[in-house]
Amino acid sequence: MRVDFNVPLNDKFEVTDDTRVRAAVPSIKRILEKGGATILMSHLGRPKEGPENKFSLKHVIPSLSKLLGKPVLFAEDCIGEKTLQMKKNLKPGEVLMLENLRFYKEEEKGDEIFSKKLAEGADVYVNDAFGTAHRAHASTTIVAKFFPDDSMFGYLILSELDSMDKVLHQPAKPFTAVMGGAKVSDKILIIENLLNKVDNLIIGGGMTYTFIRAQGGKTGASICEEDKLDLAMELINKAKSKGVNLYLPVDNIAASKFDNNAETRLTKSSDVPDGWMGLDIGPETIKTFSEVIGKSKTILWNGPMGVFEMENFQKGTVSIAKAIAQATGNGAFSLVGGGDSVAAVNKYNLAEKVSYVSTGGGAMLEYMEGKVLPGIKAIRG
Ligand code: AMP
Repeated sequence: MRVDFNVPLNDKFEVTDDTRVRAAVPSIKRILEKGGATILMSHLGRPKEGPENKFSLKHVIPSLSKLLGKPVLFAEDCIGEKTLQMKKNLKPGEVLMLENLRFYKEEEKGDEIFSKKLAEGADVYVNDAFGTAHRAHASTTIVAKFFPDDSMFGYLILSELDSMDKVLHQPAKPFTAVMGGAKVSDKILIIENLLNKVDNLIIGGGMTYTFIRAQGGKTGASICEEDKLDLAMELINKAKSKGVNLYLPVDNIAASKFDNNAETRLTKSSDVPDGWMGLDIGPETIKTFSEVIGKSKTILWNGPMGVFEMENFQKGTVSIAKAIAQATGNGAFSLVGGGDSVAAVNKYNLAEKVSYVSTGGGAMLEYMEGKVLPGIKAIRG
């Protein structure tokens, strides 16, 4: 089973956030309960030249073992004769964790011989690593070839696909996408794809200012991608021609510098004074955005509304997170994805109050862009 145990570790090599380990537990337990044994493989970090202690998957064993309520065996190499013997000796109910796949360059290259070695000794291949499903790596994609009739998704990938497909293919209407974050350049493809599907497109965060400047607004020292003004205008026109309601911030909290303790002023988003920068959406914008969200039946949220890492510029993001939680309580389906919006719902303890929080940043974005993910195709065909 390919899992995503790419978890954060502290300087004592303890797992500081076990979300990803927890997410793999249902699939592992299911195999064990049905009389199988599980061989787990994952990457951890970005090792450059072979094995390095700080990237060893042995550090994840205590967390995993605790969550499963049983000991977990560890193979110090993900391939090789000794590991193959350990795989073959596994008894029903046992779990074996292999060492970091990325200690071999062949993993990211999608090498076939390496993939075949990973497959050896196993009867069935399960992919439950959604976070790497957009990569054609050995363990995420190529290995499936060696299990032509016995490759399948785990529960985590199944539920990710289920919620993304719901939003992309059968959204209850009105469907609203809330896009934020720093740059429009990272979100162009997803916005283009969503313009074919949504009723409302809400834009907030740093990318606001590229859209406002494109329409001739004054954005002061706010973050703005000068080379994307034409593209922003194109997206505005596309929204119009497709009958999508585009909502941009009308007011913002402008700061004298990029600092939590900066002096602040409430200004129009299209009239930010010279030298000042918009770091959060303002009250009028929060009100409009919340109303649109409140009337929606499907909501997709990606990217914060402001620099929410700074306490004085988090109000917009908190308010939008709360509006989405409230709409969900009233029956809407909400999907939150992308690193920073996930961090935001967790920070405000709202993860339980939205319908689904995606675990895969890049993979989720690519799927929502309409791309075929190699790890999904390898199994779905
Ligand atoms: P992304 O990874 O593209 O979703 O961007 C997330 C980042 O965008 C966060 O670190 C935010 O602090 C940042 N961000 C959001 N709004 C603004 C803004 N108005 N100005 C500068 N950065 C922003």
